[in-house]
Amino acid sequence: MKKQFAVIGLGRFGGSVCKELYNMGHEVLAVDTDEDKVNEYANYSTHSVVANSTDENSLQSLGIRNFDHVIVAIGDNIQASILCTLLLKEMNIKQVWVKAQNEYHHKVVEKIGADRIIHPEHDMGVRIAQYLVSEKIIDYIELSPEYSIMELMGTKKVSHHSIAELDIRAKFGCTILGMKRGEEVIMSPTPDEIIKENDILIVIGHNKDLKRFEDEGL
Ligand code: ADP
Repeated sequence: MKKQFAVIGLGRFGGSVCKELYNMGHEVLAVDTDEDKVNEYANYSTHSVVANSTDENSLQSLGIRNFDHVIVAIGDNIQASILCTLLLKEMNIKQVWVKAQNEYHHKVVEKIGADRIIHPEHDMGVRIAQYLVSEKIIDYIELSPEYSIMELMGTKKVSHHSIAELDIRAKFGCTILGMKRGEEVIMSPTPDEIIKENDILIVIGHNKDLKRFEDEGL
């Protein structure tokens, strides 16, 4: 389904978010104070506009209150990022995601109601470290600090066994949501589905249970 997003600040982070959302077919309003940036993203957004997002009237005239999801990706100017987040939350925008520069920035935007706070360098560093130590983790999505969805490599150990035989939910407390076999995606596999080596298992669970499954089950 097509969704509407506004991205404020078109630096490396905001720019990548904007391009990716647009390429996925969503409607994206791209906003920056810098005209060059706005021109650069004209072809990678539905609308790109020069505006100062710390000015309430500018935000109003962009019709930003009609957006369900706004990403505040103002980099170094922490003050502008905080003020913009405050204005957006005052306008009752449901989802305001903010790129934080440091812990102080994080605390303040959290207090004023940011719905998700992102530390791209830190988060990517953690992710890369996970990939480095485990060849079994293909990718993961953090649902909350405690729960994640992981793509795990089906090893020799689990291949030729059915999901029921492996009894993953009872033994490890994790649930297989789907499997990828080459190009094919098997959604909600039945318990009698036989896992093949190199199948990718899409598993949801508590991080501790996922870790246990990865260490002991695979
Ligand atoms: P990154 O680290 O992701 O590259 P940058 O600090 O380089 O982030 O980019 C942030 C962007 O936010 C810049 O393009 C800047 O012009 C823009 N910006 C800064 N202040 C505002 C503001 N008040 N309203 C809109 N955009 C802003």
